[in-house]
Amino acid sequence: MVEVAELNKKAHKKPLKGMMENVMNQFNHAADIINLHPNIRKILSITNNEIIVHFPVKMDNGEVEIFTGYRVQHNNALGPYKGGLRYHPTVDIDAARALAMWMTWKTSLAGLPYGGGKGGIQIDPSKYSTSELERITRRFTFALADNIGPEHDIPAPDVNTNSQTMAWISDTYMSTRPPAERSANLHVVTGKPAGSGGLEGRDRATGYGVFLTIKFWADKNKINLENKKFIVQGFGNVGYWASYFLEKEGAVLVAVQDAFGSIENQKGIDVESLFNYTKSNAGSIVGFPIANDTSNDTFFGIDCDILIPAALGNQITKDNAHDIKATLIAEGANGPINVEGEQILVENGVTIIPDILCNSGGVIGSYFEWLQNRNGELWQLEEVVAKLDKKLKESFNKVYEYSIKESMDMRTAAYCIAIERIEKAYVLRGIFP
Ligand code: GLU
Repeated sequence: MVEVAELNKKAHKKPLKGMMENVMNQFNHAADIINLHPNIRKILSITNNEIIVHFPVKMDNGEVEIFTGYRVQHNNALGPYKGGLRYHPTVDIDAARALAMWMTWKTSLAGLPYGGGKGGIQIDPSKYSTSELERITRRFTFALADNIGPEHDIPAPDVNTNSQTMAWISDTYMSTRPPAERSANLHVVTGKPAGSGGLEGRDRATGYGVFLTIKFWADKNKINLENKKFIVQGFGNVGYWASYFLEKEGAVLVAVQDAFGSIENQKGIDVESLFNYTKSNAGSIVGFPIANDTSNDTFFGIDCDILIPAALGNQITKDNAHDIKATLIAEGANGPINVEGEQILVENGVTIIPDILCNSGGVIGSYFEWLQNRNGELWQLEEVVAKLDKKLKESFNKVYEYSIKESMDMRTAAYCIAIERIEKAYVLRGIFP
């Protein structure tokens, strides 16, 4: 019989690039440590289904444009595929694959009855009017058809999509069902507006979760967050809410970067004033009067205690990891640190709260919304917050204790826990036929 270790060696196949390289490296590292069965490693190294759709949409000027949309379903051993849809020029099949994989680990780690999926459209949504975005979203939903579904694959917001996008998806999906089945399909997406099947507090769940994991870590290490300086890359839903709750705890926001530029004020940037400024400044932080505009190139090197990357993947690399002053990085984004960047940070003793734990408040909130819809209930905000606190604390403690017990970083610990849960499901059910 061939040794498990021997077979596992073969699993490290051809070199991958970008986000796939990142996620596969993280996965293989943990799989080696737990000696994951090679058959299960084979299954988890590849996605179950990859859907690519091309669809026409009529633009405001009457012309028709063709769009390409993706939905990758990585694994459903633990339940329906779950994960966001992003609208961004960087969306392609590789990004969707990697992001779908991250969702599988994230939902497993959070103890949810879900697998992992991800998708989106390769567009810059700022180039389209609201009515064009609505038609693009509705036509994308129609093209995906039965590849999504409330008990099969449940999308949610991600980069550049929001509750409005989800409302359009749920309305379109429900409209394509027979009349008697329409309402029963409300949970085809989560992250809907609170007035339209959404969950109170789902909008802030990811950023609040980022804050909570920082707080849990600080408490474990007897660190007071008051007057601790933090910087945030990305001032969208995640960056804003994480900053909001950190500021409430007494921490001080000293620099922010968004898609348009960077700003810094070592005396502190008021989160709510900045948020209001962006609303009157086409969504951008640049030019905020109570801070200085600063260079994107030196952003990660700004003096601070905590760094929250809350934008896109592969932002922290060998080119900037050495400059980082923060001693704690809380990954609001998925995959913000690449393989080489991570090596440098680990050598420098920087603590990383990994994405699959740090930003899991979002998908945990999604799960609550899904349950709410499925059971025909309406939950109150206090109830949501209490449940989220409890669930995230359980996950955090599991990861933290595992990392101490096995003398490993929190990312590796999180992966070991997540993969072991999926492995167990496969061992129990076997492989068809
Ligand atoms: N897009 C979010 C994530 O990356 C949320 C996914 C969800 O709620 O399904 O975790």
